[in-house]
Amino acid sequence: MKKWIYCIAAMCMLSLNALGTRITTDSIVDIKEQLQEADANTWVIFDCDDTLIRNKDQILRRKNELFLMTNAAALIALKGISPKKFKEMVKTVLQTAELTLVHDDLPKIVKNLQEKGVRVLVLTAMVNERFAAAQALDIRIKKLKSFGFDFSKGWETVSRKPFKKPSKESPRYRHGILCSEKRRKGEALKSFVKLSSKKPSKIIFVDDIEKNLEDVEKAAKELGIKFTGILYTAASRPLPNELPFSEEIGKFQLEYICDTGKWLSDEKASRKILERSSNITDASDNKNR
Ligand SMILES: [Mg+2]
Repeated sequence: MKKWIYCIAAMCMLSLNALGTRITTDSIVDIKEQLQEADANTWVIFDCDDTLIRNKDQILRRKNELFLMTNAAALIALKGISPKKFKEMVKTVLQTAELTLVHDDLPKIVKNLQEKGVRVLVLTAMVNERFAAAQALDIRIKKLKSFGFDFSKGWETVSRKPFKKPSKESPRYRHGILCSEKRRKGEALKSFVKLSSKKPSKIIFVDDIEKNLEDVEKAAKELGIKFTGILYTAASRPLPNELPFSEEIGKFQLEYICDTGKWLSDEKASRKILERSSNITDASDNKNR
């Protein structure tokens, strides 16, 4: 009897493992190859930051998050910035900091999938954006549109209503963009599947963070959905002509937005630092004459 139980358990494990595949790549060719398998019963799900689009300014990149948070918190305390002003500052950064595509082909890839009848969803965390959560999703939709992405296609019958009042159980959702905030991506996806009354037979999920892939893979298995995960690492490559991360530039950008309410790109901040130091040199030269 015991033998049979072990056999059934082993078979269950095998069938669960058979539901999932995972690959790591920085090549768009590999992504296109994996997506060829997608059909009308497949959901292709993209993470947003560092998968579809990425920040041009160094301080806003994930690897520099600790520096950003620590220095922003110190400045806010030092300058006595009110929560209302802080919210405005976050909104300004979201609206004006420059973004770029992780790969130029991505909007076309999404469009081609949608034309084949594949549902394409964005599953994004937007953890830092929670400070201006009410506007952040609208800004994100607008930004994605400016790059030629429209994720609302195929989700017309899914209303944002079930997610209208975000709570622990319900993530934010609008126009094909699901925002998990501090929740796990897998949990957000499970809520979406449940509340949208739609369930695919297969999910292809592309993200630049391994933990997210593990998490969504686990959720897909629990839902009995086949899973292919792609760890897409292209955003770890530097952008052409980018300035390297500099604490001086980062601190200047933070100080500048606190004082003026405006965001400066790395390039502009670096130019202003140079102008400031040449003004100081000129002033001391004049004094010494
Ligand atoms: Mg990401």
